Amino acid sequence: MKLDPALEALHALLGERGFVRGPAVEERYRLDAVGRPGEAPLALLRPADTGQVSRALAICHGAGLPVVPQGGRTGLVQGQLPRAGEIVLSTERMAAIEAIDADAGMATVQAGVVLQALQERLDELGLMFPLDLGARGSCTIGGNISTNAGGNRVIRYGMTRELVVGLEVVLADGTVLDGLRPVIKNNTGPDLKHLFIGSEGILGVVTRAILRLVPKPGARVVALCAAAEFSQVRALLRHARGRLAGELTAFEVMWDSYFSRAVQVIGRAAPLAPGHAFYMLLEAAGPDSGCVARLEGMLHDALQEGMVSDAVLAKSEGENARLWELRDRSVEVSRVTVPIVTFDVSLPIAAMESFVAQLRTATLAIDARCDMVVYGHLGDGNLHLTVHYPPERPEAASAIQCALYPLVGSYRGSVSAEHGIGIMKREFLAHSRSPQEIAAMRALKACLDPKSILSPGRIFE
Ligand SMILES: Cc1cc2nc3c(=O)[nH]c(=O)nc-3n(C[C@H](O)[C@H](O)[C@H](O)COP(=O)(O)OP(=O)(O)OC[C@H]3O[C@@H](n4cnc5c(N)ncnc54)[C@H](O)[C@@H]3O)c2cc1C
Repeated sequence: MKLDPALEALHALLGERGFVRGPAVEERYRLDAVGRPGEAPLALLRPADTGQVSRALAICHGAGLPVVPQGGRTGLVQGQLPRAGEIVLSTERMAAIEAIDADAGMATVQAGVVLQALQERLDELGLMFPLDLGARGSCTIGGNISTNAGGNRVIRYGMTRELVVGLEVVLADGTVLDGLRPVIKNNTGPDLKHLFIGSEGILGVVTRAILRLVPKPGARVVALCAAAEFSQVRALLRHARGRLAGELTAFEVMWDSYFSRAVQVIGRAAPLAPGHAFYMLLEAAGPDSGCVARLEGMLHDALQEGMVSDAVLAKSEGENARLWELRDRSVEVSRVTVPIVTFDVSLPIAAMESFVAQLRTATLAIDARCDMVVYGHLGDGNLHLTVHYPPERPEAASAIQCALYPLVGSYRGSVSAEHGIGIMKREFLAHSRSPQEIAAMRALKACLDPKSILSPGRIFE
């Protein structure tokens, strides 16, 4: 099928609401959450259900047209941005919460459901989908699954992978893999859903999912603490894990460089005095207010034993939210000054302090004006780093990347803890994956998408 007939066929299939031809596609479909641009797409597809996704992909497959799936476009590695000649497949019309089974603790949803919409619906029912991240107002379940999103509560509930019970996926040629079985136990050969979770859309389009729910905690409380030494931060993590066990739902760390900028961005009085080396944001949640008393008791002892220098405990849901704002606005905080180069790495917690010190030395050697902002999900071994470099030294960005990624590899860490590889980190994949692993990924891609029409060039060429 030639190009124009294929576009005509897509138009006929999806109608006016579901098909927009190149020049008429709004600009937002080629911008990510921080305004990075992609190319103008050949067309925009907005299918309403799995059947339309399947038939649309069959047409694209027949014509060899490349397709990039899009959810909320909050991905941070440019995987969702169209490249020249590509078609955007947006899941925005597939936003139905189809079923909620409170007894089984499961929800069946279409891929385009916005995370916050699901959170709010479940909240009314006394339930919770444990995934939470700063982009909750725009990111979609399909995007969360395709990036295996992490976020704020991984320490308690795991990454998205742990929260998916069943998955429906459409392969490049339109074949529907219906893995929507509402059962936790299903040892019937390789669990195919895991191929698609975290694969950034290169193996198939996620169309529906069954998600794991938990009872909504009856109480939650947030605390902010400060420490002078990284050894205290690690001691506090051990102490909090021991004392709060399954009630510890977040343990975030902010280096002073991040905290002082966050206070500036938010524009309110700092909840703790600036000038400490480290700030830790902890959240505990449980069935009743016992978790508040336990967090308070744990902090009291941590202060007595010198693990923290100062601490503040939120006294209301409003105060909880205000403390979380320090972490949730990380994208703005990192961009207080530009240009920047950003990183999202996993490391053994014991190696973090020396890693940051080595990186600081390396960036200052590249340019003495480089400045580093560090924060992350410490409990998960995940650091986010932003390095600011002088605008008149654009080549510094690549020099900084070339210093950082081998260092991550030397600690057997991950060059992408939660954001994925997309296009931005493609050339650094080999610092986290062996040649044999990359060859196996390529073989999978060739098997499931032999014409390479799904997000070509993402993760690897
Ligand atoms: C303020 C902010 C905070 C963030 N915090 C976190 C965080 O704490 N943890 C974290 O992990 N990430 C975080 N992110 C990154 C981002 O929010 C997540 O990657 C999110 O899961 C992406 O969802 P999305 O719907 O926006 O996907 P998109 O950005 O639209 O797409 C992301 C990738 O998934 C693919 N994709 C999208 N939908 C589908 C589908 N249905 N089928 C197949 N492939 C698909 C796309 O092609 C692309 O490769 C943050 C981003 C922002 C802007």
